[in-house]
Amino acid sequence: MTDPFVSLKNLDKRFPGHHAVKDISLDIKGGEFIALMGPSGCGKSTTLRLIAGLDEPTGGEIYIGGRAMSGIPAYERDTPMVWQSLALFPFMTVIENVEFPLRMKGVTPKVRRDRAMEWLEKLGLGTMANRGIAQLSGGQRQRVAIARSLVTQPSVLLLDEPLSALDSHLRVRMQTELSRLHKELGITFIYVTHAQSEAFALADRIVLMSEGTIQQTGRPQDVYREPANAFVADFMGMNNIVSGSVSRSDGEGVVIDGKAGQFRVASKNAARSGDVSFVIAADRIQIGQANMASANSVAGKVIGIEFVGSTQTIFVEADGAEFRVQKQQHEIEALNIQPGSKLTLYWQPDHAWLLPDTN
Ligand code: ADP
Ligand code: MG
Repeated sequence: MTDPFVSLKNLDKRFPGHHAVKDISLDIKGGEFIALMGPSGCGKSTTLRLIAGLDEPTGGEIYIGGRAMSGIPAYERDTPMVWQSLALFPFMTVIENVEFPLRMKGVTPKVRRDRAMEWLEKLGLGTMANRGIAQLSGGQRQRVAIARSLVTQPSVLLLDEPLSALDSHLRVRMQTELSRLHKELGITFIYVTHAQSEAFALADRIVLMSEGTIQQTGRPQDVYREPANAFVADFMGMNNIVSGSVSRSDGEGVVIDGKAGQFRVASKNAARSGDVSFVIAADRIQIGQANMASANSVAGKVIGIEFVGSTQTIFVEADGAEFRVQKQQHEIEALNIQPGSKLTLYWQPDHAWLLPDTN
């Protein structure tokens, strides 16, 4: 990557009794939309706070625009942060809230009022400038917080789960809004979320963390379809992870002996031996008649069905292993699948993904 705009180099943060961020390195391009994802407690907010200068690292260095941030306080960093507990000032009006960062920078009243008004208009709040914060809905407050963060025209915007307090309807609308703002402004967004749908809808690149380390960095579709390890495969959604040992390997892939049968996995780097695991996504498994003959198939029994909106997840037990299969509701109905139904699951060798050797 040429000229990263934000660069984390061996960044480390220890709290008394907890090692929250463990030697992470990451380069972010100017104008990129990065989503930091991972389970609660994995170090996302800590990483963001280190970038913002709200916490001091115990090791490593942060560069923004080529400049080392060590010793530079938050208010000199040009990295405002938006988070779910909005921290708006309840005793100020909407426009006073948005003007506040400019006031801190000594901008004159006329200029700061005009600039605040401009941002309120950009966020569709032009008619609400003189309202109190208490008179706004949750979504409107979130917009005020975003306007207040952008009014100083920063080059990086940090967002820590900004939408998690909103209902799902509003969340989707705000996602669209953030996406539009990001395109319009062309600045770097670093967005913390534990919600995959948000990260996938918004981000150019996903950084998936676990226990203070980066597990994988990549475009959403790559992290989703080509997980770097079992943690990523498990975190990124409806994946089945099958383990076995390599019985054969050739130019087209490997043949793996697993508990539930023998499977072929297409793989570019087929030179593998010993114990391996592969991933087959729940939405890539096909359903056939019981005892149907097919390569890459397992015979099993439905042990449960779960509704998830228009799709359903079927849980199938096959030789002591459990498979999850995701299908459209109409398909399940057409096949007349019920708990107890016997069926065959099968998939294409090139839909399975061999997990890289992590040793
Ligand atoms: P995330 O945002 O991914 O949910 P955080 O970065 O907030 O996680 O926290 C990572 C870990 O560091 C957690 O185990 C948390 O309890 C711990 N931690 C965060 N801040 C502090 C602190 N000020 N003192 C001690 N431990 C902390
Ligand atoms: Mg957090």
